[in-house]
Amino acid sequence: MTSRAHFCSVAVLLSVAVFAQQGTPRRSAQPIAAGTPWQTSAIVIESGVPGPTALVVGGVHGNEPAGARAARQVSGWRLAKGKLVVIPRANEPGLRAGTRRMPGLTKERSDLNRQFPTAARPAPVGVLATALWSFVEQLRPDLVLDLHEGYDFTQRNPKSVGSSLIGAAHPGTADLAEAAQAAVNAEIDVADLQFVLKQRAINGSLIRAVVEQLRVPALILETTTKSQAYAVRARQHRLMVHAALAHLGMAAHGPHVLLGDARRDGALRVGMFSAKGVSGSGPRSLERLLRDGFDVRRFGARDVQDGALQQFDVVVFPGGSGSGQARALGSAGRARVRSFVQRGGGYVGICAGAYLAANNYAWSLDILDADVIDRKHWARGRGTVQLAWAEGAGAVLGTPKKASVRYANGPIYARSGDAALDDFVVLATYRSEINTNGAPAGVMLDAPAIVQGVFGEGRVVCSSPHPEQTEGLEDVVRRLVRAAAPRR
Ligand SMILES: [Zn+2]
Repeated sequence: MTSRAHFCSVAVLLSVAVFAQQGTPRRSAQPIAAGTPWQTSAIVIESGVPGPTALVVGGVHGNEPAGARAARQVSGWRLAKGKLVVIPRANEPGLRAGTRRMPGLTKERSDLNRQFPTAARPAPVGVLATALWSFVEQLRPDLVLDLHEGYDFTQRNPKSVGSSLIGAAHPGTADLAEAAQAAVNAEIDVADLQFVLKQRAINGSLIRAVVEQLRVPALILETTTKSQAYAVRARQHRLMVHAALAHLGMAAHGPHVLLGDARRDGALRVGMFSAKGVSGSGPRSLERLLRDGFDVRRFGARDVQDGALQQFDVVVFPGGSGSGQARALGSAGRARVRSFVQRGGGYVGICAGAYLAANNYAWSLDILDADVIDRKHWARGRGTVQLAWAEGAGAVLGTPKKASVRYANGPIYARSGDAALDDFVVLATYRSEINTNGAPAGVMLDAPAIVQGVFGEGRVVCSSPHPEQTEGLEDVVRRLVRAAAPRR
């Protein structure tokens, strides 16, 4: 054997040893309470590198949806080491019904977070708590984080536990709890809206059972629903989970990842803005309509600052207030959205989002060659109006089933004629109008209702009315979002 061959074989042996130790990163799903009405699933993320096992649980209480959303976002994260297991929707029937309790059970049995083992009652109670507890016992995690929401800020209203980390008393939890608290409070300027530490979780809760029975660190992370958008609350959950994972050396990237490896094959990656300035039933309708073939995540203004837009093909700015959304984004956030579109990202604006895209407000994005006219009478009213689908719109929209659509104070566009912007294409015009609150007649008639433009490399699709809130136009909504997608 030559020395060279000898060297090679040593190198091969070394790489095999490293490979055996490192393993391959893997994601898988595991059912819990399979075959029962409570069935849910755990996402198991293995880094392939030895390290701690962390468990993140969301949706124990069905009326606390930000925890479930945040857990789903976290389930797309990559790891530097160890294993992360996420149960995004622990109480699936409760989440579907929007109720705190498990539907159909007695008062004593229906709060899932009171059914876990206690010192006096060592066995969990009920099908779901029993299945979850046996899953946790088998997993033998080194850390458990349970994501909840309170209705009010606990510093202002001690009756609620909103904006707190509960369970910090366990000696192994203190450092980790402080790290998570510091991370989330770094983004909260108002002192009495900041997160505080609470020592012990209530008897029968998952976290108390983990601490007492398994003797490992565990925390309940409580955000506050009061006057805070979904994306803000889910981000606070993510910041705390991220800080805890970073404390264990497990974090491989920042907390801005909303989709990551959870992306489904071939699905269009859609980000939907969620902030003050977004309101009404639009976001919920859009999520319902964009289920198949789309991966939708809500993002907030802080996420934009973190560079979160890069993970999306298309961003959607739904109904509410255009100026309110602009204010929530701030000028730096608006610059981020503009550059996202300029570089090829898609933009869909509906009503408020269509105001935001326009070219003639101090706060507008100026990504569409459209001026909003009769601005003084923006509150012209709500109701059903008639549309005329443009000739040739079929290539984009298919054959819409109807020509009436819900309208709620959407912008009335005229061509702006800005030399820096390309002309937009009209997909539909208004064939009837609403002119209450002093708005003059005739302004809305024949004005563009749905348009498609280009800004830099990106496509901009704006709808003044609300097809997402109109029965029969479901397919139009999906086609509008697809029309904004980058061509691959
Ligand atoms: Zn809760």
